[in-house]
Formats: sequence, structure tokens, C-alpha cells
Amino acid sequence: MALATNLGFPRIGANRELKRATEAYWQGDIDEAALLATGAELRRRHWMMQREAGIEVIPSNDFSFYDHVLDAACLVGAVPERFGWQGGPVPLRTYFAMARGSQGGDGAGAGQSAGPGRGAQDDGQSGIRAMEMTKWFDTNYHYIVPELWPGQRFTLASRKPVEEFREAQALGVATRPVLVGPVSFLLLGKARQPGFDRLSLLDRLLPVYQELLGQLRAAGARWVQMDEPYLALDLGDAERAALRRAYAALAEAAGRQDGADPGALGILVATYFEGLRDNLETALQLPAAGLHLDLVRAPDQMEQVLQAGVPGHLSLSLGVVDGRNVWRTHLPSALSLLERARRALGAERLMVAPSCSLIHVPIDVEREKALDPEVKGWLAFARQKLEEVALLARAVNEGREALREALEASERLAEQRRRSPRRTKLAVQRRLAELQPEQARRAAPHAERRKVQQQHLELPAFPTTTIGSFPQTRELRQLRARWRRGEISQEAYEEGIRREIERVVRLQEQIGLDVLVHGEPERSDMVEYFAQQMDGFAFTDHGWVQSYGTRYVKPPIIYGDVARPGPMTVRWITYAQSLTSRPVKGMLTGPVTILQWSFVRDDQPRDETCRQLALAIRDEVQDLEAAGIRVIQIDEPAFREGLPLRRAGWGRYLEWAGECFRLATSGVRNETQIHTHMCYSEFNDIIEAIAALDADVISIEASRSGMEILEAFRRFRYPNQVGPGVYDIHSPRVPPAEEMVELLRRAAAVVEPGKLWVNPDCGLKTRQYDEVVPALRNLVAAAKQVREAAGQAGQAGQTGREG
Ligand code: GLN
Ligand code: ZN
Repeated sequence: MALATNLGFPRIGANRELKRATEAYWQGDIDEAALLATGAELRRRHWMMQREAGIEVIPSNDFSFYDHVLDAACLVGAVPERFGWQGGPVPLRTYFAMARGSQGGDGAGAGQSAGPGRGAQDDGQSGIRAMEMTKWFDTNYHYIVPELWPGQRFTLASRKPVEEFREAQALGVATRPVLVGPVSFLLLGKARQPGFDRLSLLDRLLPVYQELLGQLRAAGARWVQMDEPYLALDLGDAERAALRRAYAALAEAAGRQDGADPGALGILVATYFEGLRDNLETALQLPAAGLHLDLVRAPDQMEQVLQAGVPGHLSLSLGVVDGRNVWRTHLPSALSLLERARRALGAERLMVAPSCSLIHVPIDVEREKALDPEVKGWLAFARQKLEEVALLARAVNEGREALREALEASERLAEQRRRSPRRTKLAVQRRLAELQPEQARRAAPHAERRKVQQQHLELPAFPTTTIGSFPQTRELRQLRARWRRGEISQEAYEEGIRREIERVVRLQEQIGLDVLVHGEPERSDMVEYFAQQMDGFAFTDHGWVQSYGTRYVKPPIIYGDVARPGPMTVRWITYAQSLTSRPVKGMLTGPVTILQWSFVRDDQPRDETCRQLALAIRDEVQDLEAAGIRVIQIDEPAFREGLPLRRAGWGRYLEWAGECFRLATSGVRNETQIHTHMCYSEFNDIIEAIAALDADVISIEASRSGMEILEAFRRFRYPNQVGPGVYDIHSPRVPPAEEMVELLRRAAAVVEPGKLWVNPDCGLKTRQYDEVVPALRNLVAAAKQVREAAGQAGQAGQTGREG
């Protein structure tokens, strides 16, 4: 019989219980026992919920107090020395210190400053530096990066997987523990020394996994899920060999994987987010009892796998329910894939599953009372997805006829969605159909635009600016919250925002910045703010998804054609501009970033949806220009994270994503200066695509790498202007002017000085005014010094007003 299975359940709790308890613990409001009890209660509830949904193979050890990769690091004793760990189970305080850093022994750590994809966490000033955090493949989940070094030793330091298996067992649930596979664990880690081969640690790591598998087997586990997402990525021979070596060793500890040993622990190797493709042979030959395939991302691999020949002992876990998105599954098509596999292998060798762990979707759509009922009917969150899995497994076992009603209902729903007037806006589709290539091209090349922009703006050399947001003070947050709750009037709210904008504008004038911003006081989230003003988006009340640690996000849902009924930012930006003679920069979120940080409709290609977003932003850009705004920034912090996991897909993505950015920004006159901002520092491999965006100015994160990242800009001879960040806003530290001067000197050695801007790494919203004001004063002072030095050296290319 085919089994209904799951690979991982959201840990956060339907009411964000985990966040509340964890933060209360950090604040000292509850003790460790209370936090542990919340964890146990959530696990119990989630196991029961899965069982009720009809899931037969339920995961354990998918729960985590912070992150499952951090758990894995603690499991194998990969704790960097600076945390003072002495062996044995890693104490909870040490665990959190690894994630968040700690300030002088309280273990509570430095504050969480930046949001997802918005930079790494705060390093703080003193205390112990947190481990790095980075994105989990192409998701918006962030994991703690294991640190790896030559000579590192691993030990089995924790019994978490065994304990949670037992805990479920005591509740009458026989679970399948989930582990990060050893090869993926090493590849997820970062070598402390450049050039150190992380996989050289494999032989030291494997005995720890062997010991653990022995314990799980002794505890009575029949299956273990080893997540090896790298198996679906571009690999070299060394990585493939490591996988073969690893699983040979693991199978030794788990017992025969060919079914000959009834007491063996079956290893399910789980891959997701991509197809196996060129790693197919490697995957099929691993000594494992099961292999999980993501058939949502790569449905075509079903056929490839069957063609390649599935070894007789191997079961397949087929991920046919999308674990990455929120739409109901079209059951008949999912079933067709499953039936194809059943005909080839028989039902006994099949497991029906979501495509990946469900931590990437919210928990239960039934909780959404305010959602439009029609749109709600199209959605499935974790609980509904598991019901779909269970239904499909039954249909595989009992045949279509037995499930006729459910299949017909699914078909009707799909049909209803196809026909729904909510989904389509003819005007938008017509506009898309009539797009002309020149709409995605500015009228003149940058060199020419630059001249007219300079006449228009009269900026000094090395112009100074900021990235957009100013500190979000408590008063400001309260103002927005009270307005949302209806506690203050619209007028009172707007008056508050106006006052804040005026304050920020005056402050910037005093500090002496050249291109000002309005400070973004009206925005709590850079995507939601725009989504709420556009058609085609739905919002949930409880649709939280973990981004990292206790930081959860509630992505908007794009369900229909996107349109902008009216201006979104013009009012506040023009108000700011009315206060000053210096240029105020209009501030928008770009189409790719809005797409990337939303749940995107699955009934048309992503690039199509992105073009619709681009047109909406284009209209806003044009409205800003018409309202007299001379500089407009379109933020694309998520541009890079949209890159497909496999290189083969990069070209196509960069082409359409770039086209969308240009479509959004090319509707203006030559004298209007377009900025963009991206806050990360890996540009080497996409620098050409970045250049092709043809923004007049790009600001990027550069201070932490000491301008190293500019190498890419030099090698490529980046044609337009660049503002490499000289102020690290991820830290509360105020950098002295001399330090910024030094960074600017380094930058000027790589990028033509006449093309340099002076700005922070990212927005200031997570910082405090008492840090920001002196830091910006230093930044302006640094720009002045560099200008003077350049003036003395008699360099050309400096026209206009001198700071
Ligand atoms: N304009 C935004 C800000 O300053 C940019 C945020 C970001 O890069 N993620 O906050
Ligand atoms: Zn940024």
C-alpha cells in the first residue's frame, strides 16, 4: 500500500506560540522549563494534527527552537570554541548564543536587527559574535551556517532526535526522524579558512551519524529521513563521491537497505527544490531504502527516474503537493503522476508526500476568517496539504473510483478558479500583450543621461545619500499600530507622519546630505506596503511563516492580475520634496522583490506576474516624475535570491527579471535619475546582469568586506554610478570619518572616482538615532575630505555645487 507521508511540519504554532515563549525566555520572563514545555506541547499538537489529517508517516526532529541546521551543528558537536562549550548536550543558552551572539554572559544575545534578506544579524559590540546566517536554498527561510575548520572533531553531543522519537512513541505515534544529511551538512557550512575543503571532514563526521542511526534503530525507528537537498543541485565528482561514501557508511549502521533485514532502519534520502537531473544515477545507486523526489519543481523527473530504472529494493517518495506555495493541488494531475509510478513499481513501493518540508507555508487556512471566501477556497496551508496527501494516497491504493467525489471537486475548483473574474483584469492583459521592447529601454545611454542629470541636479562630486528608511522609533511604531487598530483618526495619523517626515528632512539638511529621503515612516514592510495598494493581492491574518529564529513573515498572496488603482507614494514623497530645495529621492520596491517575497499565483508563469508588477511600478515612477521628483530609487534586495538553484536556469531568469526592472524604470525622461539598491555582496557572478539593469546609480553593501566586492565592478568595468556602502548599519557602532575616508579611497582605486556615491550599506530603520546621527555626520565629513583631496589633486569631472 502507498503511504501518506510528510517531510516536516511548521514548528511555530498556529498562534505563534514558539515565538512568544522563546522571546519571553530571552527576556527572562519565563524559565527554561516553561520554554521546553511549550516545545513539547507544540510537538504533541502537531503530531496529532498530522495523524488526524490522515498522515501515516509522521516526521519527528523537525521541531526546532531556532533552526534545524543549528540543531544539526549542536547534534554533532560543531560548536565554535568562542561559545565555551565543554562537551555534553549543548545548553539552551549556548544554543541561542550561537544563533544570536551574546552580550556579556546573559546568553540573550544581541538584538535582531535586520530582516530576512535584509542583511545578517547584529554582531553587537562586545560579547560573543553570533554565527552567520544565510538563506536556505531559494527559500526565505534562513539557517545558521555551521563553522568548519581543519582538524575539527565531531561527537554525538545531543540525543534530541532519539528523545523526540521516544516522546512521540509515548504518545502512540511512530515517527520518522528527520536529519540533515552529512554531505549537505558540510556543504551548508562555511570553511573558516579560504580554500579549506569542507568535505575533507566527512570521514570524521560519519561515525557520529553512524552512532546516532544505531541509537534510533535501537529505539525502534523503522525509517529515518536524511535531507540531502544538495543532491538536486549542480555537483562535481567530489561531491558525488562523498555522497556515495557517506551512504555506504550509513547503511552499515542502519542495516541492510535492500529489505533483507527486517530489523533494519530504512534510510529515505530526501531531495527537494530541484530535479536530480545529472545526479540521477548517483541518487539511484545510493544504498538507501527510499528516495524522495520533488515532483512539483521537477515533474519531468518522474519519467526520467522510471526510465533510468529504479533498483528493486528502492521505494520512491513522490512530492506531488507543493510545499512551497499556498494553492490547492489539482488532484487529478497529481494522481496521474502517482499512477504512472504505481504501474511501474507497485503501490507498496510508493510514498505520497508534499514536495518538501511544510515549514515554508502557514499552518491552517481555516483560521482565516477575513479572507475573501472565493480566494480562500483556492488555498491550502500545511494542514490542508496533508489532507490532500492522504487523499492521494488513498486514491493510489483504492483507485480513482473510490475517490471520485474528491477528484471531481478538485476539478470543479480548478475550473471555477480558471473562470473567476477575480483572477483576470483584461486591461492588464491587453497592456502586457502590447508591450514593446523599447518600453524596457531608456531613451539615451547612461553617459548621456548623466550629463543632463548633472545639469538638473547640480550635485557635488562624491554625492551623499541614504538608502531610504530612518530609524523606526517606538513612537512611530505606536502611531501606526494605533491607527491600524482604529484608536486614532486618519487626520491624527497623517499629522504624525507629516511631522516625522519634516523632522527627517530637516535633520538631513542639517547633516548636509545631498540627496534626501523621506524616511519611510509610513511603511512597516517594504513589500506589504505596496501590495496593500495594488489589486490582485490577498492578505492573511495568521499566515505566518518562519523567516529565521523568532522572526516570522506574513507574505502577501498574489492571486490575480496585478494593477495599481492609483498613486501609492506620491503624496508623502512630494510632501517631503515641498519642504526642501535639495532633491528628495522617491522610494519604491521593485517588481522582482515584490514577487520574491510574496506567495505567487501558480496559474501563469512567474515572469508574467512579474511583468504585471513591473507595469504597476512603472506607472508609479512616472507619476513621481510628473510630480516633480527628480531622483527615484527602486529597491531590489531580492533580485539575486530569485536566481534558480541550478546554473542552467540563470540566463533565462536574469533576462526576464532584468527586463522587469527596466520596464519599471524606463518610462522616465533622461534627466530623471534612477537609483537601485541591493543589500548583499555577491556580485561576481551576476555583474553583467546588474549592469544590464541600467540604473543610473546602484547602492550596495560593501563596508563589511572592506570594499572587496568592488573587484567585480572593476573587472567588468561597470559603466554606471555606484554607491558602495561605507557605513555598516548591521552594527550599532558609529564608524569614524577616517575609516569611511579609507573605504572611499579603496573604492576610488577600483571604480572611477567620478562615478562614486557615498552612502550607508542599507536602510537605517533598525538603528537608533543616537547612532545614526553621528554616523551620518561622519559620512558627510568623509565625503568632504575625499572631495577636497580630489580637488587638490586637480582631478577632472567635478562640476556643480561643492558640498
Ligand atoms: N529602502 C529600504 C530601506 O531603506 C531598503 C530596504 C532593503 O534594502 N531591504 O529600508
Ligand atoms: Zn538594503
